Amino acid sequence: MGEGYGPGHVPPDDLASIALDGAQAAPAELLAEALPHLADCRRCRDVLAGLLLVVAAARAAPSGEDLLVAPPARVWRDILAHHRGPSAPTSAHKE
Ligand SMILES: [Zn+2]
Repeated sequence: MGEGYGPGHVPPDDLASIALDGAQAAPAELLAEALPHLADCRRCRDVLAGLLLVVAAARAAPSGEDLLVAPPARVWRDILAHHRGPSAPTSAHKE
């Protein structure tokens, strides 16, 4: 159930949980809903891919204490804008 979100899309919080915790740690019912959707929805896969990059970058950071720092606001804006903008004039290439 989204709040002003595209119907049926995986909420960003859930995508973040999957990106952070992986398939093992994320709640089973979350995965049961999210994974089939991710298989069909390129938009949500793109969002998850962006989150995974953020997580990977954070885990590659030299200082362990910095792992808990939130990514720059710009990253979230980009991700959310990408997810919400169905007709955004993005690049010409398709899948
Ligand atoms: Zn979706």
